Amino acid sequence: MQTGPFHHLSTLNYQPWSTVPSWKPGSTYFDLELLALGLVMSESFESFVHDRYELLKDRLQSVSSFLWSHPELSGEEYRAHDLLSAILEGAGFDVTRQYLGFPTAFRADHESTTGGPRICIVCEYDALPDVGHACGHNLIAEAGIGAALVIKEYLENNPKPGKITVLGCPAEEKGSYKVLMIEKGAFKGLDLVMQVHPHSSSDGKFFFVKLRASLIGKIGFLAEFTGKPAHAAGAPWEGHNALDAVVATYQALSMLRQQMHPTCRIHAIIPHGGTSANVIPEFASIEVIVRAPTLPHLKTITEKAENCARAAAISSNTVLKILKPSPSLLPLKSNGVLAGLYQRYAEDMGTEFVDITGRGTRFEASSDIGSVSWELPTIQPGFHIDSEGPNHSREFTVASGCESAQPPTIRASKAMALTALNIINNPPLVDSMWQEMKK
Ligand SMILES: [Zn+2]
Ligand SMILES: [Zn+2]
Repeated sequence: MQTGPFHHLSTLNYQPWSTVPSWKPGSTYFDLELLALGLVMSESFESFVHDRYELLKDRLQSVSSFLWSHPELSGEEYRAHDLLSAILEGAGFDVTRQYLGFPTAFRADHESTTGGPRICIVCEYDALPDVGHACGHNLIAEAGIGAALVIKEYLENNPKPGKITVLGCPAEEKGSYKVLMIEKGAFKGLDLVMQVHPHSSSDGKFFFVKLRASLIGKIGFLAEFTGKPAHAAGAPWEGHNALDAVVATYQALSMLRQQMHPTCRIHAIIPHGGTSANVIPEFASIEVIVRAPTLPHLKTITEKAENCARAAAISSNTVLKILKPSPSLLPLKSNGVLAGLYQRYAEDMGTEFVDITGRGTRFEASSDIGSVSWELPTIQPGFHIDSEGPNHSREFTVASGCESAQPPTIRASKAMALTALNIINNPPLVDSMWQEMKK
């Protein structure tokens, strides 16, 4: 039974899987004996990976099911943090809980011998207010944990230099903690980053453009206007109306949209519009988000949007203050070498990708993984799950908890593991990825 902000989930007609065991803090229900099964020295890594997932998939499902049933908001993912940390500790990773001082971030490392590729898998696990796991981050965590366990087991059974790191990155939906983690050096000393993300597409295929942004950049700002209050009936001519400034800004932004490229976005809300209708509003504010696929576009449109607020301040005789309360997000630069490897393995398992270059009507969104991609080679491939609605809808919440989401999640996880093991067996690929980064 859901309580608190997620009580709506009880209306979603979701039946928890009977396989989900109860969980207590500090314990793990992951069957760690599984990880000690058999040596695989003579197997190819492809068959090794497929065999291991056959053994792991039910337990991986129980991880995402637990997260789905206990959704936690950005920055409050305490149970997810404890569960995922406990699983990785139990599997023999060197785990740092509350990594870098973030209460719900963690880091897990395993290195066979030094000098090999240093591969990072990112897990997200936050949910959304009212709608729970409507972005499927429970599946991101499942896929990430699965890939990390399989890569580690391979390294333990094969004499290859390499390192696998799991970064538990909280607060993607609200807070963009990866940007803060970059500033604290979380991604230093790593060679590449992979994370997968569920979406749904009408034809079941998934878009994936290797060499251009598939997540667009984002800059948010809050424009606060301060005017002068006055009696709205007795002496309105004495007032300087801050709400007028907000309305003028909103209207100017609406006109600005006409001159934007279709891959760019502007959206806004009015958090404060005055306190009493019979007083000329002294204070009002508008929160604006600008998104664009390239940095030049992002900067240009943000400048134009801020100018809408500046013009409104002049016309309403109010004083404007522009604040940037949340970090800006850079567009995702998918690394072509890394993307090509992932795509090959995903296609081998039946995933279909479509080239969306030049389309202006595709699903546009932003993520803090975009900022990571400017630090080191990064991909965040999407994978399709059957859903009646897009991410952040109640329908997607249902879909991310459904049995039918499991095969595509496992395929995406496998493709990450196969990509990683290919790189561990072909270390010069890392140099190719970094050469691309420097272009
Ligand atoms: Zn989301
Ligand atoms: Zn998401």
